[in-house]
Amino acid sequence: MEDRREETLDPLDWGAAREVAHRAVDDAVAHLSGVRERPAWQAPPASARAFLSQPVPQGPTELAQVYGNLVEHVRPYPMGNIHPRFWAWYMGAGNFAGALGDFLAAIDGSNLGGGNTAPALLDRQVVGWLRSMVGLPEGSSGTLTSGGSAANLVALTVARNAKAGVDVRAEGVAAIPRPLRFYASDQIHSCHQKALEVLGLGHHALHLVPTGPDCRLDIAGLEAAIAEDRGRGFEPAAVIASAGTVNTGAVDDLLAVGALCRREGLWFHVDGCIGALLAIAPRHRHLVAGIEAADSVALDPHKWLHAPFEVGCALVRDARLHHATFALHPEYLEEQSRGVAGAESLFDYGIELSRSFKALKVWMALKEHGVQKFGRLIDQNIDQARYLAGLIEAEPRLEMMAPVTINIVCFRHRLPGADEATLKAFNSEIMFRLQEAGTAVQSDTTLHGRHGLRVAIANHRTRRADLDLFVRELLRLGAELQRG
Ligand SMILES: *Cc1c(COP(=O)(O)O)cnc(C)c1O
Repeated sequence: MEDRREETLDPLDWGAAREVAHRAVDDAVAHLSGVRERPAWQAPPASARAFLSQPVPQGPTELAQVYGNLVEHVRPYPMGNIHPRFWAWYMGAGNFAGALGDFLAAIDGSNLGGGNTAPALLDRQVVGWLRSMVGLPEGSSGTLTSGGSAANLVALTVARNAKAGVDVRAEGVAAIPRPLRFYASDQIHSCHQKALEVLGLGHHALHLVPTGPDCRLDIAGLEAAIAEDRGRGFEPAAVIASAGTVNTGAVDDLLAVGALCRREGLWFHVDGCIGALLAIAPRHRHLVAGIEAADSVALDPHKWLHAPFEVGCALVRDARLHHATFALHPEYLEEQSRGVAGAESLFDYGIELSRSFKALKVWMALKEHGVQKFGRLIDQNIDQARYLAGLIEAEPRLEMMAPVTINIVCFRHRLPGADEATLKAFNSEIMFRLQEAGTAVQSDTTLHGRHGLRVAIANHRTRRADLDLFVRELLRLGAELQRG
């Protein structure tokens, strides 16, 4: 072997490296094409736990063996969201072009903080595509983030600074003359509480308006809340409308919220992590009419666009306000009209300086399939949710817990005469058994004090037969449990 006093991480033997990579790709294709044959989920066994608690390696291991470790101890025990019968929380199911995109982005290696580079142009292009899909006007700004929580935080930071009445960047939140208030339905995602806490406003700044059985933002209640807060010396700043709530998929009346925000001078933010992309679904885009008038929108390509984790996106109508909230150029990060630095920095639109080339996975999948296909897949999931609701409604042992607006179905197994706690334990037991058997993965939630199971079909691999199997197994387990 040649004497290498100057070391590198590059393989000494590129041929061997290529061999491992080819095997990884062959295995990846088999893994994805055979996903239906595997359990939807299985817990990591003791052997994997032990292996994954080993200390940091001091010396080398052959790449082929490292890959072997992954194959043995990691790959068999994933979350399962690429499986056709995974419907828990709210996740996308991934896609092959997107996975290749993540690999190729890593090979390219660019830092997407900015730069006079093709990857930076591509990042801009993807943000522009997402903006056009949602319907915000050209000239709006946007940024890809790690996910929806970060996207909402970016948008709410712009909203806070726009409505503070002082220069928050200079003076801080303590200088805000009257405490800001943000409004949302009580079905809002928890990331908004976190955002307001991080923004130094405290979560009491989040005024939640109670929902009725439809789980939508009550516009009269919202108006009353704003008036009441004004009377108490607060400064109503923004409304956070949900385009698809996480519990039930309820979609707030965006036209009404937008009109109210214009009337009252409030920032109109839409949390569209679930449903902003309804705007591309031919048969359901009417549900988000009015989203195009939002001051800001958060959306999540790693949900209904099935991009591999992670990628979210914040869009802001007023690009100037967005830029003014985050732009910062110390002497070592000046923009340049020539050379690699570039004249427009992507890091000026969020808190991250170094950024991944996550745009590539979205770009590749959108180019491979076209937006229309993604729109049809959203319609397909909604049809499947209605189909599941039909099965539940036709079955006397089951009951629906909330109306189905989009692709989320909340329901429970009845247990005649049982109290709420017993019902919760019974339904949870069914859920755990379905997961542990690897049959299907669903989650649960509590709506207006009533516990239920929850199926969110954001999955391009799901078929109706999967839902038939799910209901059949659920009923079988319910009967088995009742027999004791
Ligand atoms: C998923 C979700 C979020 C948070 O997004 P992450 O990508 O998980 O950070 C926010 N709001 C809603 C409505 C969501 O469904």
